[in-house]
Amino acid sequence: MHIGVPLETHAGETRVAATPETIKKLIAQGHQVTVQSGAGVKASLPDHVYEVVGANIGDAATVFGADLVLKVVAPDDAELALMKSGAVLVGMLNPFCNETIARMAARGITAFALEAAPRTSRAQSLDVLSSQANIAGYKAVMLGANHYPRFMPMLMTAAGTVKAARVLILGAGVAGLQAIATAKRLGAVIEASDVRPAVKEQIESLGAKFVDVPFETDEERECAQGVGGYARPMPASWMQRQAGAVHERAKQADIVITTALIPGRKAPTLLHEATVEEMKPGSVVIDLAAAQGGNCPLTEVDQVVVKHGVTIVGYSNLAALVPADASALYARNLLDFLKLVIDKEGHFHLNLEDDIVAACLMCRDGNVVRTNG
Ligand code: NAD
Repeated sequence: MHIGVPLETHAGETRVAATPETIKKLIAQGHQVTVQSGAGVKASLPDHVYEVVGANIGDAATVFGADLVLKVVAPDDAELALMKSGAVLVGMLNPFCNETIARMAARGITAFALEAAPRTSRAQSLDVLSSQANIAGYKAVMLGANHYPRFMPMLMTAAGTVKAARVLILGAGVAGLQAIATAKRLGAVIEASDVRPAVKEQIESLGAKFVDVPFETDEERECAQGVGGYARPMPASWMQRQAGAVHERAKQADIVITTALIPGRKAPTLLHEATVEEMKPGSVVIDLAAAQGGNCPLTEVDQVVVKHGVTIVGYSNLAALVPADASALYARNLLDFLKLVIDKEGHFHLNLEDDIVAACLMCRDGNVVRTNG
């Protein structure tokens, strides 16, 4: 099979969908791989490191004209127009957007969105949400430390003692837990909250304090169980009590990192303007939900703004700020997914009885397979 690896052209994207490590394995399986010139440069992978493992270097028309195209994000219209009908596309294709799926279907291709894979043990090695959220959680702390005008750890010096920074983390999924671990390594004092009570133990095992917002009704308890491991929107009563708890904790915090997401919906508001107004001057908010509307209404997507003396960072693609490792992990996820759709003879094989393959399939031979509510 001819496999194409394009240069990602979306603004701010630095990652590449295949690395020399994964391409070497694909070539060993008998495939021919063409990498678009410059595709890996931002991830510290110049063309020659691909050539060393046997890849060809080509132009956009050649890579998008392949039988199988490996992408990071969904192709734009011009890129889709270069794909041939019947080709297969794999990437983070935004499965919640019907319009994107329809555009791909109209081109006559078969497309898989890896973000739609189930969060099961079997799917762990191809879980792109986890691999990229892990990086985002780490980078959020690095950005927080960078914008914070003080030290993170407690220091006792001849010139006096410096207090440890207080970090508040809202949402303790993959990104939030990595943010706790990273802030801990830098010596911060950490508090964290999540709607799912099951994460209390994980938060505490990483050395942070759990900010508890107890449930008062059966509806609140039931909503907090989530669905498929994901959070659901919580009733207004609980959100109001959570806002009260966050208000008190945020006033004491130096850095607030928000990561709360609800799949397919606008991110919940957790840090209200009235709370930001009372935060300490010089404190920092890193809003990882910026691309989904933000957990703070003052967040501006892909901007760093100062509001009420607080620096609010709204970068929408934190994984792209760690391009080499983000690409390495993403490329391995993708290679693992390919094992499910390429048979031993090296041909594309669609097994819809495989729950991972079925969940990721967006469109098939030009027909839309997945539609969202
Ligand atoms: P996510 O990115 O969808 O959301 C981030 C966090 O925000 C979640 O922990 C969510 O509960 C939380 N959140 C939502 N609304 C909130 C609110 N109002 N207040 C506070 N927090 C709120 O989540 P994720 O990191 O992708 O993880 C989702 C789940 O999937 C987790 O339970 C995780 O452990 C699980 N998971 C399972 C596997 C696996 O089994 N293979 C792999 C990865 C993740």
